[in-house]
Amino acid sequence: MKTIHDVVVVGAGPAGLALAYDLRDLDIDVQVLEADGDIGGRTRSVQLAGAPVNTGAMFIYRGTRAEMLAKKLGQETAPFHPATYGVHIDGVTSVAGSTPEIVERLPLPTESKTALVDFMEGLACEYRDNVSDGTITDKAAGLAKETVADRLDGLPGPARSIIETAVRGGAVGDAAQLSAKYALRYLASYIAHERDSRLYPVNGMQALPRALAANVGAGTAIRTGIRVGNIRELDGLLEVSAASDDGQEVLLARHVVMAVPAPLVAGICQDVPLWKREALRAAETPGSTTLTIAANVEGLPKFADWSFVSTVGKKFDAIINPQPGVLPADGIVRFTCYGNSAGFIPGIESDDQLIREWIEDFMDVAPQLRGRIVDAAAATWEHCFSVLSPKRNAALPDLQRSVGNIHFAGDYTSETAGSHGAYQEAQRVADTLREALAQRTAKPATAGSPASDW
Ligand SMILES: Cc1cc2nc3c(=O)[nH]c(=O)nc-3n(C[C@H](O)[C@H](O)[C@H](O)COP(=O)(O)OP(=O)(O)OC[C@H]3O[C@@H](n4cnc5c(N)ncnc54)[C@H](O)[C@@H]3O)c2cc1C
Repeated sequence: MKTIHDVVVVGAGPAGLALAYDLRDLDIDVQVLEADGDIGGRTRSVQLAGAPVNTGAMFIYRGTRAEMLAKKLGQETAPFHPATYGVHIDGVTSVAGSTPEIVERLPLPTESKTALVDFMEGLACEYRDNVSDGTITDKAAGLAKETVADRLDGLPGPARSIIETAVRGGAVGDAAQLSAKYALRYLASYIAHERDSRLYPVNGMQALPRALAANVGAGTAIRTGIRVGNIRELDGLLEVSAASDDGQEVLLARHVVMAVPAPLVAGICQDVPLWKREALRAAETPGSTTLTIAANVEGLPKFADWSFVSTVGKKFDAIINPQPGVLPADGIVRFTCYGNSAGFIPGIESDDQLIREWIEDFMDVAPQLRGRIVDAAAATWEHCFSVLSPKRNAALPDLQRSVGNIHFAGDYTSETAGSHGAYQEAQRVADTLREALAQRTAKPATAGSPASDW
């Protein structure tokens, strides 16, 4: 006799955990299987110089389900209030409050400077036209079909490379992929000094998945260190093969939810039809590496005002200070260098030489911080962010469509990507499951009752 689980969720990131949380009121057996030794997926937070920092996801976006869940689960957040923007190119770093001021100091020919100011100010105007209270409005719908690259024609070389680098730093994909709609959020919002769209979770991004995990239903088990290798249909049920330090095991489930990055899905669900494979191919999710640096800025308060600095020709594409304008009591500001062009660099976390090279690049951008770095932590992601491209947008209906009783939820099935997209998609799939399991839950049952037998 083998246990039949109502739902097996593959992956304990934001999507997998929110799904288990959303089903908490049902008297069902849910198994969440996580390959890693910890939960949270790409929201990992670590301690750096005595405070939590994010090595992956950084911000909770206002007006999204991430904000709603954070509020509901009592997560403390602080607003992201940028007053500056910055560019580093050819040995010069210019950080200032206005676009003309930033560009004036850059080592660029006059023609490039004029074009760059026009472009950046045009972006800020477009932002104000299409975004209200930090949220992208329906007016921007048409922009979803265009890419940022469509806008760059005619921009002189150095100006173009500043914008392309800023796109990679803020949005992971490149200008030829990023839709003009989401360039509003991941490029223009920084230039426009948007104050209403981002919240910084004071205890780290991982605190929200942890809070979700602490509030799942009595019939839910979250297991770490167990990697799902294969899922196949068997006599109307789903057979889930997984491996852990204890060896191989096979679980039987009525429903399976794939809450892992898109590029992993087809390798696990080997029998999915061609239309699903093609949709998954449209959900490109490139790798990325981050280095978070804690630096003592006592006596140099201008560094606490940095928010986003686009860094051309460095190992990373941008530096973000997630709490601009805040000078902590210990004088330590934690900057994250986003190496989205660098991609996935296995082993960098413990590669002191490589970390030193990244820190050197950081000090080229911020020479006054030499000798003031107190700690650093590197992290690398094989699949960082599901690129917000028109191609993926067109594939969304097929990305979301279930294959029999296999369902799909994650950043890759959402319009917006990001953890907010993952939380949103968990809710969609939870509604589907709620309906599918309705008959079963209608039967009288006690909380935590054992799963049915086969
Ligand atoms: C550098 C970086 C910056 C980001 N910035 C932001 C931001 O500011 N705001 C924001 O909202 N989002 C941001 N994101 C994106 C955000 O982290 C993701 O969109 C979100 O984590 C996606 O959630 P998910 O549950 O779909 O996938 P994941 O978080 O990837 O979770 C999937 C889980 O599945 C597990 N898994 C994989 N394979 C298997 C298997 N075979 N068996 C079992 N388990 C498996 C993984 O270990 C992982 O824990 C960022 C990401 C990165 C990397």
